[in-house]
Amino acid sequence: MLIVQKFGGTSVGDLQRIQNVANRVSKTRKEGHDVVVVVSAMSGETNKLVAYAEHFSKNPSRAEMDMLLSSGERVTASLLAIALQEMGHDAVAMTGRKAGIVTDDSHTKARIEDINPATMLESIEAGKIIVVAGFQGVNIAGDVTTLGRGGSDLSAVAIAGAIKADLCEIYTDVSGIFTTDPRIEPKAKKLEKISYDEMLELASMGAKVLQNRSVEMAKKLNVNLVTRTSFSDEEGTLITKEENIMEAPLVSGIALDRNQARISLMGVKDRPGIASEIFNKLADAEVNVDMIIQNKAHDGTTNIDFTVATGDLFDAKAVVDTFVDEGEIKADSYNEDICKVSVVGVGMKSHTGVAAKAFTTMAENNININMISTSEIKISMVINEKYAELAVRGLHDAYELDK
Ligand code: ADP
Ligand code: ASP
Ligand code: MG
Repeated sequence: MLIVQKFGGTSVGDLQRIQNVANRVSKTRKEGHDVVVVVSAMSGETNKLVAYAEHFSKNPSRAEMDMLLSSGERVTASLLAIALQEMGHDAVAMTGRKAGIVTDDSHTKARIEDINPATMLESIEAGKIIVVAGFQGVNIAGDVTTLGRGGSDLSAVAIAGAIKADLCEIYTDVSGIFTTDPRIEPKAKKLEKISYDEMLELASMGAKVLQNRSVEMAKKLNVNLVTRTSFSDEEGTLITKEENIMEAPLVSGIALDRNQARISLMGVKDRPGIASEIFNKLADAEVNVDMIIQNKAHDGTTNIDFTVATGDLFDAKAVVDTFVDEGEIKADSYNEDICKVSVVGVGMKSHTGVAAKAFTTMAENNININMISTSEIKISMVINEKYAELAVRGLHDAYELDK
């Protein structure tokens, strides 16, 4: 088989763990498989580099951030290749560029546009173990780009698709996909399988165990994806097509996203086109807007509230300021003490009362709901961040996910 194995930050967190990863890769190789390894930076490394940059600037240039952050993954890729060589393997470390990963120009959250796997395929043909630095590519101009936080998952899935790997294994610090973050709810249960769509909702709603774009890509390219732990041989969770799952549960999981901020625009001129102008300018600034609420107009003005990822807050503020300066918006305020909890499950499509149960659970725990949004297979609520854990555990209980 041709197998892609991706190791996350904790799995390569120190030199001993890198050696353990080398042992696992070596074992897979000796079992007769071709292996392409994708690695993250050592845990904490990317955050450390971000903090270094923030020492000099509140809003460091995105191109330089990419140059900086991509270095973390290069360290682990080279160290792992050296460890494998020392064990007698023919191993080669590659940057994103060498692996043929071409992205758009959107620094710090670039999208993969194309992968040219020729170099990787040549090395595989020559019997080498390839170790790719995850999280990065290059744009057409040759500048280093990164794929957004958690982006090594995307590197692994995209490479698996491009080289037509039989399997893509994501090794992390938990033994698979659970009904919710097991660090918040110890009663969370590991799922044997989960559909691409449910996993995509969980990941998009904040379950960082897989980066959401990696799941999107896995679905599109039909990649056989397994999440498992690098610390034991315990079996993981298969992420697969909905039809491969016998009985879809009503609710499969609860996700929490703490990286949310709420922006309130007060006294917005109530005229046709204003929302389009504000949200188009935000889109031009590459700000992803999530939930939006517009109140009924009063005295010719209205209030608009919306949420963005905290990482986009600085850029969002800059856009809002231009409207305030022009007198189109009277006042604005920002709240970072919020989080979003979401209930996800394909079974919701055909059942009623699922949302009502979520709201009842919040009521029973005395948690005020600020904003609500729903889709066919999810219900999301914005609440005060101090109730995050309480809400997750309450919902996990209410839907009996520990059963
Ligand atoms: P890595 O460094 O290996 O990429 P991450 O920290 O990005 O690992 O993701 C793994 C973490 O995701 C776990 O430690 C766990 O706390 C968290 N997590 C959140 N939701 C879930 C879930 N539903 N199932 C499993 N882990 C989850
Ligand atoms: N090192 C990067 C991050 O911390 C990418 C990754 O780990 O997937 O976000
Ligand atoms: Mg991750």
